[in-house]
Amino acid sequence: MSDNAITVPPEIANAIDTAHRIAVITHVAPDGDAIGSCLGLTHLLRNLGKDAIPVCQDPVPYIVNWLPGVEEFVRKAPADVDLVISIDLSSIDRMGDAYDAGTLGHIPLVNIDHHVTNTYFGHVNWVEPRAVAACEMVYHLALAFGYPITPQIATYILTGLLTDTRGLRTANVSARVLRVVTHLVELGAPIGEITELTFNRRPLAIVKLWALALPNLRVEPEGIIWLVITEAMRQEAGYDEPGDGGLVSFISTAEEAYIGVVFTEKPDGTVNVSMRARPGYDVARVAFALGGGGHPQAAGATIDGPLDTAVQRVIHALREALTEQKAARAAVPQPAHAGK
Ligand code: AMP
Ligand code: MN
Ligand code: MN
Repeated sequence: MSDNAITVPPEIANAIDTAHRIAVITHVAPDGDAIGSCLGLTHLLRNLGKDAIPVCQDPVPYIVNWLPGVEEFVRKAPADVDLVISIDLSSIDRMGDAYDAGTLGHIPLVNIDHHVTNTYFGHVNWVEPRAVAACEMVYHLALAFGYPITPQIATYILTGLLTDTRGLRTANVSARVLRVVTHLVELGAPIGEITELTFNRRPLAIVKLWALALPNLRVEPEGIIWLVITEAMRQEAGYDEPGDGGLVSFISTAEEAYIGVVFTEKPDGTVNVSMRARPGYDVARVAFALGGGGHPQAAGATIDGPLDTAVQRVIHALREALTEQKAARAAVPQPAHAGK
């Protein structure tokens, strides 16, 4: 992973300079990076005297519900804005109902994202897959344009950076990332408190849901570990959030696995597919082929049910992809530390 400096396109500063009322929209089923980057950017813009509105179709998830200002989110961008900024999302549909193309289509759209699967749907596109989080991009943006980072903004940015790196435990954490973290702590982000509230705290219902889902764990001979979370399990556990609370990352730590998958049945009959891959393997391409997106090591998609059909389709695609990836790796000598 290259550690070169991340540069910010000047067109973004021009778009911000000329705007007065800005909708900052993040993705459906938001994670910590979505919420942190959206609130961080919103507050940076407000401190420049802009009228900025954080927008997300879905509620703020439990892991970051302690952040100040989470009640400011609106579900749909107002029609009277003069700039839309999308953050942490790779395709226009990931804004869901928050973005109405009918009313907002003619308004300039700045796309700020770190997913390798980004479709460049904006009028200005700043896509930086080397950034470990959209929050890291917000940090570089603030620095490049001289926007002041208050302790509260540093807290938003560090929270999203920590959630997308699972607490600095992903393979893309570099000296550059650690320098950003150090600077954010110096600017007033309380790293110990953020870690405690974000990673060392979960609802009892999610632990119960894991207990219901784990007995049905499956392992494919190629090294794909997977399980399903049904609507019935979710109801029995009393867990009403959309995500799996980190279960996919947990099962993916099994040493025999190259890829981990959690299939979650949704109330509307669609199936959420959440995938993880060891460094050196890639689930982003399969996610993209399924109509979703993500990063090589963490990607997802929402596909049609029923659950059994969805599982068969995805496991088949992953078995093929993994066999291909193993063959490609076998053809090239690998350094001893580069994963399995
Ligand atoms: P998750 O497994 O939900 O934690 O998501 C892992 C990564 O894949 C995140 O970067 C998401 O933004 C991305 N992702 C998840 N679901 C989708 C989807 N339906 N479409 C596009 N990207 C997705
Ligand atoms: Mn995200
Ligand atoms: Mn992200």
